[in-house]
Amino acid sequence: MALEEKFKEVAENPFYSLAYTQFLREKRLMGSKCKKCGHTSVPPKPICDKCQRDEVELVEMKGNGKLVAYTVIGTGAPLMVEEGFDRAHPYCSGVVELEEGARILARILGVDVEKPEQIKIGAPVSVEYVEAEHGGEKKVFLAFRVLL
Ligand SMILES: [Zn+2]
Repeated sequence: MALEEKFKEVAENPFYSLAYTQFLREKRLMGSKCKKCGHTSVPPKPICDKCQRDEVELVEMKGNGKLVAYTVIGTGAPLMVEEGFDRAHPYCSGVVELEEGARILARILGVDVEKPEQIKIGAPVSVEYVEAEHGGEKKVFLAFRVLL
């Protein structure tokens, strides 16, 4: 089977995206790990980003890592505005590199958004699950807290 066909088949397999959201609801962080080269991805991907093989397995991430990039957002996504974040109440969003190697974009907690210059790149972070209600439905969002 051609790679593109294979990719289409596995990309449309609801297993990966469903696994991620379902586990997130249970406050577990799932990713995929390539059986060939060990590359990890969060959320899980059916095809390895690095070697393009499809021999990946679903693995649970420990949730520890470091902050590699961040930004303080005043004009956020509608979802965040709904939670009360705006220009006067900004929030921090960042990229975390997990111990397992995968990088993921998430909300960053435990930082002073009024003093973004004090937020340290490389700071250790630990996963935290934020529960928020949207449209009458309780949802769990991925966040990381900076441990200082
Ligand atoms: Zn690989």
